[in-house]
Amino acid sequence: MQQINELQELLRTPRKIMITTHHKPDADALGSSLGLAGYLKKKGHQVTVITPTDYPSFLNWMSGNEEVLIYSHRTDAQAQAIIQEADVLFCLDFSALSRINELGGYIRQAKGTRVLIDHHLEPEPFAEIMFSNTSAAATAELVYELIRDLGDEDLIDNAIGECLYAGIMTDTGSFRHASTTRNVHLIIADLLHKGVDICKVHRNIYDSYSESRLRFLGYVLKDKLTVVREYNTAFIAVTSEELKQYNSQTGDTEGLVNFALSIEGVRFAALFIDRTEAVKISFRSVGDISVNEFARSHFSGGGHKNASGGISYLSLEETVEKFKSLLPLYTEQLAK
Ligand code: 5GP
Ligand code: MN
Repeated sequence: MQQINELQELLRTPRKIMITTHHKPDADALGSSLGLAGYLKKKGHQVTVITPTDYPSFLNWMSGNEEVLIYSHRTDAQAQAIIQEADVLFCLDFSALSRINELGGYIRQAKGTRVLIDHHLEPEPFAEIMFSNTSAAATAELVYELIRDLGDEDLIDNAIGECLYAGIMTDTGSFRHASTTRNVHLIIADLLHKGVDICKVHRNIYDSYSESRLRFLGYVLKDKLTVVREYNTAFIAVTSEELKQYNSQTGDTEGLVNFALSIEGVRFAALFIDRTEAVKISFRSVGDISVNEFARSHFSGGGHKNASGGISYLSLEETVEKFKSLLPLYTEQLAK
C-alpha cells in the first residue's frame, strides 16, 4: 500500500518516464511494458520503452511497438540520454540489473526514481519502489493490479488489455501452469468484459510461424531430441550451423523446450542453443524440481521454480556433457 502511495505521489504531475525490460523480451516482458506505457501515456506522461535487444516479430502487433527504442550499442546516445533525463525508470519482468546488459549500468547510475515490477525469484534491491511478487503468474498480472490499485482500471482499453493478456497467456503456458490462480482468471474475465480479442492475441503469437521455423521444429524434434529415461529428463541441443541452415530468427526457438517436457514421464527438460558468443540454456520442470536452483547453482542463471534459464561459456558439447554429469546429483528428485 505504501508503495502504491509513493508511486501515486510520483505520478501526480506529468513525468518523463522510461520503461525497460529484459534481454530478448518475450510476450510478458514486452506486453507488460507496452501495457504500462499505454496507460501512462493516457495519464499525460512522456513515455519511452527501451528494450536491451530485439524481440520476436510475433510481438510486433502490440500497440506502441513502432515507438519502442531497441538499444543497440554503447554508442546509443539517444537511449542513454532518455535514461539520464527520466524522472521515473520502470524495470519490468527482470530481477537483477545484470540481466539487461549495458543498460543495467546506466539505470543504476540514473538520477530518477527506479520502480521494479517483477515476479522472478530473489529480486536484487536496486529500485527505490519495488512491486515484487514471486507468486504472480506474470508481470502483466502485476501491471493490471497496479493500474487497478491506482484507481484507473477504466483506462485499460483494448489496446492495453491485449498487451497484458498476451503476457498472462504466455507466462501461464496458456493457463496450464501451477501459477494459474483464481486471481489470474478473474483478471482475464475483466479483460474479456472490456472486449479484449483473445482469439486474435492467441493467433498472433502462436499461429504465426514462418515456414522455415516450422521446418526447423520438425528437424529438431526428429533429430535433436535426447531422452535420458533413467533421470526422467529430455533435452535438445542446437548448433549455430543449424540455426543458420534454417534461417533462424529471434523467437524461433521459443517454446521448443516445452516439447521436451511434453514426453510422458519427463519431469526435467533443457534446451541448449549455441549463440556463438555463449550457449544459452532454458530449463523447465514439473512439480517440486527447482530449475531456478539448478540454473543458479550450475549455469549462472535463475528465473522461476519451474522455468529458468542460464548461460555457459563452454562449447555446446562440453555444456551438454556438464549437464549430463550433473543429473546423478539429483537422482532423488528426478528418478521418482
Ligand atoms: P526462457 O527459458 O524462456 O528464456 O526463460 C525462462 C525464465 O528464466 C524467464 O523467466 C527468464 O527471465 C529466466 N531466465 C532466462 N535466462 C536467464 C538467465 O540467464 N539468468 C536469469 N537470472 N534468469 C534467466
Ligand atoms: Mn514474466
